[in-house]
Amino acid sequence: MKTIGLIGGMSWESTIEYYRIINQETNRILGGLHSAKILMESYDFAQIAYLQENGRWDELSDILTDSARKLVNNGADFLVIATNTMHKLAPQIEQYAPVFHIADVTAQEALKNNFTNVLLLGTKYTLQEDFYKERLAKHGVNAVLPTLTEQDEVHRIIFDELCKGIISENSCVKLNAIIDSTDAQAVVLGCTELPNIIKTASIPVLNTAEIHSKGIVNYALEGALCQR
Ligand code: GLU
Repeated sequence: MKTIGLIGGMSWESTIEYYRIINQETNRILGGLHSAKILMESYDFAQIAYLQENGRWDELSDILTDSARKLVNNGADFLVIATNTMHKLAPQIEQYAPVFHIADVTAQEALKNNFTNVLLLGTKYTLQEDFYKERLAKHGVNAVLPTLTEQDEVHRIIFDELCKGIISENSCVKLNAIIDSTDAQAVVLGCTELPNIIKTASIPVLNTAEIHSKGIVNYALEGALCQR
């Protein structure tokens, strides 16, 4: 079993789900008392969100590369970034160890279900910059975006509510209204806190936190099953 180097705490409301799913999935596959081998760097999210908001991506890159170095020095075999947004910095992290990329495994899951046109919900960084949409497109998955007003509202719900553990009925209704108005084949919850509020919808839901976590386990266990 490979040791997972997890860069998380962005926010901890989603990292706790990664920790749960990765361990549950490892135990489902290996049985007994098995659980995952994880090294984790978890940040004070106030600092991360402040730097994002102010466009200080060079400093964020320094923070993440420092974590990557520490994790690899302490025995991590590969790296995972437990948020969609911070995959903007995946190329910088990749120089330390392989990064198991959230958009690759999400695109593969979409294609398994024949979804090539998906509504993408997430932070403004994920929606408005190219790093995520282009990665999906490389696999042949086209991302449809909500309107700019809707993007603002989704971003607000993520930072003012979901990252603080607030689940509001009103926000759930608003998010579902955005999903209901799309003609895409499925919705990608391209923010790892969104599955905490959207469990099901009027179209199929791709939960990136769950898809990523399960993919991480498969990658960590590659080769381990035959050695058991
Ligand atoms: N966890 C979120 C995501 O998946 C947003 C928090 C962040 O900005 O990293 O994009």
